[in-house]
Amino acid sequence: MLEATGLMVFYENMLALNNVSIKCEDKQIVGVFGANSAGKSTLMYTLSGIMEDIQKKENMAGGERITVLGEIHYLGQDIMGLKPSKRARRGVILCPERRRIFPESSVLENLRIGGYLASPSQAKESLAYVFRIFPALKKIKKREGGFLSGGEQQMLAIGRALMAQPSLLLLDEPLLGLSPLIQVLLVRSIKEIRDERRISIIVTEQYARPVLPIVDYAFILENGAAVLEGTREELLHNPDVRSAYFGVEE
Ligand code: ATP
Repeated sequence: MLEATGLMVFYENMLALNNVSIKCEDKQIVGVFGANSAGKSTLMYTLSGIMEDIQKKENMAGGERITVLGEIHYLGQDIMGLKPSKRARRGVILCPERRRIFPESSVLENLRIGGYLASPSQAKESLAYVFRIFPALKKIKKREGGFLSGGEQQMLAIGRALMAQPSLLLLDEPLLGLSPLIQVLLVRSIKEIRDERRISIIVTEQYARPVLPIVDYAFILENGAAVLEGTREELLHNPDVRSAYFGVEE
């Protein structure tokens, strides 16, 4: 379904992604785990095409030169040269790190903005779905985004991404800064979304443990390079991975 090969991203002379190849099969949940600065957001920006916008902004401001190399195939087609909006139309939707919801717009407005690619009937159906999977949002649909708790903001960010009709949802550190209880709830919702919407999901996290129960396959990024990959079971049975990434003591 998605296959990225040999991705290299340079911020000026700094190598942020070093020959990274990752794959996500149809209806899989794929985890990408790595410490701070490992390159998770850079990877998500590159897959979604947002990197192209960042490149342009930097060029216009006379800032740093960003170079992106490699190949990305989605549903058998090369999408590397496509703008983020074109990739979104093909179903590749990013839910960015730190939510980035619109703080002065209501919950409902935030969701409607997410649905701009959808037909009115799709938007209606998706909105009903978002309120079903995150009933908490329905209760606060008129509240401004800026007044939501961290967990509510993350639900809203995922809801907004769902409104855009993803076939591949890219979730960048959705659990960041949330309490363990909310993390469990969100992880359960992410699995439900995959099962019920029958979509594929790539999720990045610094700590693998909370998301591990729902991933089919995972990659480990270290200093911009994919150093290990495997199914959930393969990674869990690897002693180095267990202690270093999953917080499981031997
Ligand atoms: P985090 O968990 O902190 O979000 P990450 O795994 O998402 O980390 P990235 O944000 O992709 O990592 O960053 C990878 C590396 O690239 C880091 O060393 C970071 O400092 C650097 N970097 C990211 N964005 C830029 C930029 N616009 N210009 C220069 N360097 C950058």
